[in-house]
Amino acid sequence: MTVLRLVMGDQLSDNLTALTDLDPAHDVVLMMEVETENTYVRHHKQKIVLVLSAMRHFAASLRARGVTVDYVKLDAPENTASFTSEILRAVARHRPSRIVLTEPSEWRVRALVEGWEALTDTPVEVRADLRFFAAHERFAAWAAGRRGWRMEHFYREMRREHGLLMEDGQPAGGEWNYDQENRKRLPARTTPPTRRRFAPDAITREVMALVESRFADHFGGLEDFGWPVTRAQALEALDDFIVHGLPSFGDYQDAMKAGAPFLFHSLLAPALNIGLLSPREICEAAEGAWRSGAAPLNAVEGFVRQILGWREYVRGVYWTLMPEYADSNALQATRALPAFYWTGDTAMRCLCEAIGSTARYAYSHHIQRLMVTGNFALLAGVAPREIERWYLAVYADAFEWVEMPNTLGMAVFADGGQMASKPYAASGAYIDRMSDFCSGCAYDVKQKTGPKACPFNYLYWAFLIRQEEGLSGNPRLAMPYRTLTGWAPERRAAILAEADAFLDRLDESGGRPSEGDDGRLMDPVRELL
Ligand SMILES: Cc1cc2nc3c(=O)[nH]c(=O)nc-3n(C[C@H](O)[C@H](O)[C@H](O)COP(=O)(O)OP(=O)(O)OC[C@H]3O[C@@H](n4cnc5c(N)ncnc54)[C@H](O)[C@@H]3O)c2cc1C
Ligand code: SF4
Repeated sequence: MTVLRLVMGDQLSDNLTALTDLDPAHDVVLMMEVETENTYVRHHKQKIVLVLSAMRHFAASLRARGVTVDYVKLDAPENTASFTSEILRAVARHRPSRIVLTEPSEWRVRALVEGWEALTDTPVEVRADLRFFAAHERFAAWAAGRRGWRMEHFYREMRREHGLLMEDGQPAGGEWNYDQENRKRLPARTTPPTRRRFAPDAITREVMALVESRFADHFGGLEDFGWPVTRAQALEALDDFIVHGLPSFGDYQDAMKAGAPFLFHSLLAPALNIGLLSPREICEAAEGAWRSGAAPLNAVEGFVRQILGWREYVRGVYWTLMPEYADSNALQATRALPAFYWTGDTAMRCLCEAIGSTARYAYSHHIQRLMVTGNFALLAGVAPREIERWYLAVYADAFEWVEMPNTLGMAVFADGGQMASKPYAASGAYIDRMSDFCSGCAYDVKQKTGPKACPFNYLYWAFLIRQEEGLSGNPRLAMPYRTLTGWAPERRAAILAEADAFLDRLDESGGRPSEGDDGRLMDPVRELL
């Protein structure tokens, strides 16, 4: 009897549990491109191309091994546009004895799958996704009884458990964490390495044409598409990073530079999140580089922490707290997302750079996400759900299980401290310290108030004043709140009024210096496309 084995767009791994006992003589692998998955948020065109092209390549590799693949293309006339209606059609075509799949990575799809057995009158077997270091139960056991879930504690347990960067039961080099060495500003004359990108082949070009015609109004451009879409390409990208990026990854992990969105980052998240690479092989390749002397420990530890620590941890947070987590709004933020998040049409150069690379490459690195676009949304009081949907839409690596905790927990503190011990709120001084953006900005980062003052400066203090009741008791915010106690009521009122005036005219001005100012304006992102 036929077993129908489902492979979704982020499950493109040969060792997927749904495929482990595949019988090519009898079984059928079902892969579906459905409209609703591409439009529940208006994904960046590059993300859609990445997923659909990688799916088509994966199907071709299965067929080359003699596997029967029933592949439903997006533009097939009979395609009914949703997972559930396509499952019903597939069951009618193959009359399988059972449906086997690996658990979907998102809560929304998991909820759909729950209805399939009754709907199709066919047994549905959902298997665990073993492509992670920590099973759901492992995270739950760690989290049980803890009040704040600090990633660092979880990460140390993962290091011990998986033996990565360990020597005789102790962390390699004697420290768990080399963060102190990993916050350097990029020296002005540094040229970041040219990164391995992949020219679209015939399959990718066909998908690009399809996406241009069907999703023309989605965010971003396709001209610079260069993401790996096969396992062979993903392995090449990994090698390229280990040789050219990893040695300086640690030193400049938090640095930002105008016109250089990639710096020494790995660019591996898109391939990793759709299953073309495994987290273990990436971490082992990085550890190997340290053991062979090709990369320093601060770089390798900093990198392994992102994958073995952060990535596993946010998955645990997501699955432990969903579905209520999606509605978190501890700071009661309600502002609509400023329109310039979609156009980059703002005089704030840091935002223009971050949104520009997002539109052009479906990429910006972690500090741009956290400390530029995220920080601004936090300080401006943007509604968590609005900024969360934006992050889900605009990055090639955006999948809800990893994007949502990063946005709600890290960027905008909507979970009230479940993940972060304090909000990642910062004034312009932080951005100035870590980047070269401010020197070419219409605003002056040194000015605290007035029409030329960097908006991050007064927005930062206005945020602290507004959130005083809830945040002033936080020991990690003791210093700024001590400063605020010395402020006269008039000074506080003036900062609040300046912040309000700026925010009130945000959409109409795109965040430009107020009228009559001669500040230089930045090119809008759309000119980059
Ligand atoms: C608001 C916000 C939204 C984000 N949304 C996503 C998302 O949708 N998908 C996603 O994969 N990452 C997301 N991140 C985490 C991180 O920014 C990206 O993983 C990273 O920028 C991807 O680029 P890279 O592959 O060059 O990463 P590198 O800097 O080279 O890091 C190496 C790898 O570590 C992992 N990693 C690093 N930081 C994190 C983190 N905080 N959480 C989970 N994994 C991490 C990624 O797999 C990444 O590929 C988000 C971060 C923030 C602050
Ligand atoms: S001055 Fe302010 S707005 Fe301009 S780039 Fe610097 S931090 Fe951003």
